[in-house]
Amino acid sequence: MGDLNDKQLGLDREITRRDFLNGVALTVGAAIVPAAFFLGCDSRQSEPEQSPEYYPPALTGLRGSHAGSFETAHSLRDGTFWQHAGTPTDTGESYDLVIVGGGISGLSAAHFFRKVAGPQARILILDNHDDFGGHAKRNEFIAGNRTLLSYGGTFSIESPRPYSTVAKALITELGIDVPSFHTYVTQDWFSSRDLRSRIFFDKETFGADKLVVNPAPLGVNETDSLQGVSTEAWKEFLAEAPLSPQAKRDCKRLYQEKKDYLPGLSSEEKKARLARISYAKFLTDFVKIHADVVRLYQTLPHSWFGVGIDAVSAQDAWALKYPGFQGMKLDPGFGPGQNYDTMWTKEAADYFFHFPDGNASIARLLVRRLVPDAIPGNSAADVVMARANYAKLDESRSPVRIRLNSTAVRVKHEGDPASAKEVEVAYARFGKTYTVRAAHCILACWHVVIPYICDELPGKQMQALHASAKVPVLYTNVALRNWTAFEKLSAGSVYAPGSYYGSLGLGLPVSIGGYQCPRNPEDSIVVDMNRYPCKPGLPARDQHLAGRTELFLTSFETLERNTRDQLARMLGAGGFDPARDITAITANRWPHGYSYEYNSLWDDFWLQGGETPCEVARKPFGRIAIANSDAGAYAYTDEAINQAWRAVGEITKT
Ligand SMILES: Cc1cc2nc3c(=O)[nH]c(=O)nc-3n(C[C@H](O)[C@H](O)[C@H](O)COP(=O)(O)OP(=O)(O)OC[C@H]3O[C@@H](n4cnc5c(N)ncnc54)[C@H](O)[C@@H]3O)c2cc1C
Repeated sequence: MGDLNDKQLGLDREITRRDFLNGVALTVGAAIVPAAFFLGCDSRQSEPEQSPEYYPPALTGLRGSHAGSFETAHSLRDGTFWQHAGTPTDTGESYDLVIVGGGISGLSAAHFFRKVAGPQARILILDNHDDFGGHAKRNEFIAGNRTLLSYGGTFSIESPRPYSTVAKALITELGIDVPSFHTYVTQDWFSSRDLRSRIFFDKETFGADKLVVNPAPLGVNETDSLQGVSTEAWKEFLAEAPLSPQAKRDCKRLYQEKKDYLPGLSSEEKKARLARISYAKFLTDFVKIHADVVRLYQTLPHSWFGVGIDAVSAQDAWALKYPGFQGMKLDPGFGPGQNYDTMWTKEAADYFFHFPDGNASIARLLVRRLVPDAIPGNSAADVVMARANYAKLDESRSPVRIRLNSTAVRVKHEGDPASAKEVEVAYARFGKTYTVRAAHCILACWHVVIPYICDELPGKQMQALHASAKVPVLYTNVALRNWTAFEKLSAGSVYAPGSYYGSLGLGLPVSIGGYQCPRNPEDSIVVDMNRYPCKPGLPARDQHLAGRTELFLTSFETLERNTRDQLARMLGAGGFDPARDITAITANRWPHGYSYEYNSLWDDFWLQGGETPCEVARKPFGRIAIANSDAGAYAYTDEAINQAWRAVGEITKT
């Protein structure tokens, strides 16, 4: 922590603090929910989503897995839910398909199902959050007379593996012209203002708070490629970094030395060896660099894997072009056990598109297809500024209904799964439990949840579902009155290996569909700050569990203090005043974030080959099919779409 007290940090300041109480929007002091809701009235008109004030994207404070979204699932996990739930109320509703999970996978599944079953097919999508999109969430901020957009989770259309034909076709059908992306980005936004990637050394880890140029950004921030690195960067870095002379010499050596640290082995043998040791171990035991340099690079791979270099293999580090392998004579090409995220191809790299609200735009385009009245407009560009009408999502006259604030608690065939004609789905909504029936059900929700809601599945499949850990992620968006401090310090993004948030930046300057990215340093802006909580030293899955627990137990007050403190320490020299300059904070907390991707350090099957847990986990069962990006153990939007396609294929094949 820095030297500023709560008042100086601005913790007493009036910023936008609209929050959610059990999924119901409240402004401080004034409830906007009809009283009938609290009295337990069941009529649709009195439900919170019907209120014109119901607009989750504009809510700030603790978002992501917000209060009201997870308690039911946790009580299922703890075995207490049915002790208090009572007998569910039969809604009498019957569908062709019920989908559990309103993320990109669930929404895509609905889209694909309609292609087969026709536009009149009756579909219900249930999601436990107050907004649709799953991880692909939209954050809005009001700044003066304009709206600022940001992403609460999924950042962009991008995937280390090329998009499949199916996923590409869906993106095209939604009207997104991926190759046109460059026309929406202000390419010289950073360079014309001399904004550079920086490293923030913090005094707790490195002995002094200091912002220094980053001579080798290594893909930590999405805007690195637009920022460029000056020819003087290394000189500047070595002169200013608060590292010992030995650490500086080692840092230089790490990038320059062309040494084979595994002499006598073939490229294949070296890769096999590197797949079994961490990059941290490679740096320490083979390159023998100073511990401060290891600390400097500890959080480099966080945005990929949610863990640091202690839990990422040296082979993956080599593939990510981290330093130290220049003299190793490793053949290009993928080695056994390499993680998907490190298998970049040019085709994949070129397929990139970022909307100002990230892939929430994809979710919104899908919703527009499924429930046209809910989102006005007719192009991929105009969806950016379109205001969703949440009251239209769950109308009885619509063939597709999206029911938010609804956690599926039991999915069961009516009779023997082998011959049953229907599935009954029970869900909890604002303290009550209801049932609906359907000819089919697709579970497009997180795999770790499935064993608690569907106890019919075979034991081996249950185990495989349980094995699907999730990677915890915190994306905090901070609205600032202006970004003059960034300009004064020539900082476009910051890598901060010892700080609460390991990286942050000004975001991609994209203008599309009437939305204009901020132009002048005096303009308001949203800064995105990322944290991947983990516990170095443990196996990857245990690190994720520890991080998930940490994130779940951290209050918004602590998040706010950490956010203000870090910005003050990093940007203070540029005149930044957290009390004056911060206008709103939205902390998108995802304890169940990325899908877990297999890792050669811990997952033997990944090195040896054979059936993977996700292949076992996603097997169809009777009238139930299983989607979600977890079903491919690959944390990308295209996988959510691919798995939806497969699941729909399974329930519609004759
Ligand atoms: C912070 C973050 C950033 C990311 N950035 C990118 C990126 O830039 N590009 C990219 O391609 N991918 C990115 N990803 C990964 C990508 O977001 C996911 O792979 C994809 O969106 C997953 O979609 P999904 O529908 O499979 O799952 P989800 O989006 O997780 O949706 C599943 C939904 O099911 C709900 N659910 C769970 N249990 C129940 C229940 N019992 N009842 C009702 N609903 C339930 C969940 O709450 C959730 O809303 C990111 C992920 C995170 C977390």
